[in-house]
This record gives sequence, C-alpha cells and structure tokens, in this order.
Amino acid sequence: MEKHSFEFKLQAQDGKARAGILKTPHGPIHTPVFMPVGTLASVKSLTPEDLEEIGAEIILGNTYHLYLRPGPDLIAQFQGLHRFMHWNKPILTDSGGYQIYSLAHHRKISEEGATFRSHIDGSLHFLTPEKVISIQETIGADIIMCFDECPPYPVDYKYAEKSLDLTLRWARRCKEAHHRKDQALFGIVQGSFFPDLRRRSAEALLEMDFDGYAIGGLSVGEPKEMMWEAIEISNEVLPPHQPRYAMGIGLPEDIVECVWRGVDMFDCVVPTRHARTGTLFTSFGPLVIRHAKYAKDERPIDENCQCYVCRHYSRAYLRHLFMTKELLAYRLNSYHNIYYFINLMRQLREAILTGCLAQFRKTFYERQNQIKEENHDVDESI
Ligand SMILES: [Zn+2]
Repeated sequence: MEKHSFEFKLQAQDGKARAGILKTPHGPIHTPVFMPVGTLASVKSLTPEDLEEIGAEIILGNTYHLYLRPGPDLIAQFQGLHRFMHWNKPILTDSGGYQIYSLAHHRKISEEGATFRSHIDGSLHFLTPEKVISIQETIGADIIMCFDECPPYPVDYKYAEKSLDLTLRWARRCKEAHHRKDQALFGIVQGSFFPDLRRRSAEALLEMDFDGYAIGGLSVGEPKEMMWEAIEISNEVLPPHQPRYAMGIGLPEDIVECVWRGVDMFDCVVPTRHARTGTLFTSFGPLVIRHAKYAKDERPIDENCQCYVCRHYSRAYLRHLFMTKELLAYRLNSYHNIYYFINLMRQLREAILTGCLAQFRKTFYERQNQIKEENHDVDESI
C-alpha cells in the first residue's frame, strides 16, 4: 500500500493461508481477522469495552444504514463514527451496494447510480459512486469500500457481464472521488459465478491499484463448491502483498475454508443474529440453548471457552434468560458468540504461524460433528 498510515505485512504462509498484520491509523489488525458487524453504530447489545475485552480489533459499519439513520450530518458533527460511537480502534464501512440489493425497495440502477426507496419509510434516494465515497469519508472509517452492484443469484451470463462492467466503471469513479489519505479504499471483485468474469473483474481492479481487495457477491444462495471456486479464482489473480476480504462470510466452517484458500478478512451478522435466536457456537458445534435438556445443566456453554460468560454462567441460567426473554440473554449470548469467532481467528492465525493449519482444520471438523450426532433433532436453525 502506498499510503504511509497503511501497511500490510505478511508474516507467514501455510499452503495458501496467510497470517499478517494490517496497520491502520487506529491501530494494527492481526489477520486473518473477524470483524463484528455494528450495522447502526452498535454491535448489538455489546459496548466497545466488551468488544475490546473480547479482543476485537476492527468492527464494521454499514453505510446504507448509517446514511439513512442517523445520517452523515450528525456523524460529521462528531468528526466521524469513531467518536460518535466511542470506538477508537479501526472501523471498516461497506458501500451500501449489498443493502440496496437486499433491503431497499423499487431500486433502479443506471449508469449514473442507484435510485431506491428506503426500507424504513419509503423515502426516495439516489446514490452515485461519488456520493457513496463522500458519505464514507464523512463516516471516517479506516477502510472503505467501492460502490458496487450485487447481482442476484442465479443470474445469466449476459446480465452478470453487464453488471460487472458497470461495477468496474463505478470502481474507477470511486477511486477518482476518494481523497482522504488516512483511509484505505478497497475494490470489490464481482462477476457472479462465471470464472472468466471473476478473473476479468480481479484483473481490472488490480490495474486500478486499490489498497486492498474484497470478494463480493458470495453467500447469496449458491452451492458451497461455487463459492470456493469464486474465492480460488479471485485469489489466484489478487496480489499476495495486499489484504483480501470475503464480504459477508460466514459460518465458522465457511471462515475456516476461506482462510484455507487465502482470505484475510471476514465480517458477518451470524454471531450476533444467532445469539439473539439462541444458537451458541462452541468448539463441538452449535448449541441450541432453548432445548429442554439444558434446563438443569450446570455446565458452561463450552468448557473449552475462556470467555466471561462461560467463566460465570451455566447453561441452565442462560436457558432461563432466553426462555423468559430477559434482555441479559441477548447480551450474554452475543458476548459468547463474538468471543467464539474472535477466538477461532486467533486459533487459525496461530495454526498458520506454526505451520499446522491442515491439522487444525481436521480437528475442527471432527469436533464440530460431535454436537450434530448428539443434537440432530433440534439443530435445524443453522
Ligand atoms: Zn464462552
């Protein structure tokens, strides 16, 4: 990376997997890294102190949501999101492209930009690549993303190609519109699940010379094999000395597979969303806390977990909180689940640094299958 506040250093490689350090103006990020999602300037139910205690090094904010509420003007009044939400470590904002595709109503994409109606009050909005960059400059995240069109799945080749070409023209406009030197701008590889389009996308972005690269348009309902192929093709083209980010991935096993294939950065609502519906991630697979068999269970969620929740609370208590819809249930469940994801990344990083990722991956699957055998009748929620 050219900007002096940003630097990505590869520390070790194990097969295709990488461990590195990404330096940002708000501190270093050790990769591979999981970024908890703070959609509306809050990682739901957790304080920044919780996140620091858990070991989160970077969180994600959603430009689409923050643009609608509270709006860039209020964030500008606080000189940016860091101060507004009292989080002084790195932040990444997405560009809103995915939310316009998945949440907004009556969207219309043109060469100039995207017109859509807010999913909250139906109000009409028009975002261009230039405006999206300007909003992200106001929010002030350390890493920001290009505005892209996310094609649905499945989509025919002609549509995917047209969409990709538009996304590439928008990427060029984003690059030209971006002026803040203390922010890294990432390009987003698209191209649906057509290998030649993925390759073309990555090559074209590379020529534009971004600070890092995201792989977008994944986890939209495609079979897993297609997702792995899209990742592998993108990573074949993307330069080894720059960070790679798989957007919106995913479940623990998806993260393990993407790290295995050379991805460095991840974000997903899975840990907090599943926490709120009572699915807790453990070293032996997902545990559904509402199950009657936990009603008198004095053990922690996961005996292998060192988190605050597992050190102090029983499954019986957590089940009671969940069944009675006590607010503390959401907080404790979210704390544990975010800890699980951050700790999984620590273990993956350690395995890469010591050259034993293959063994880690094997053991990970052996353990994950334990609860499925024990719990096959209830675990339908994942
Ligand atoms: Zn725990």
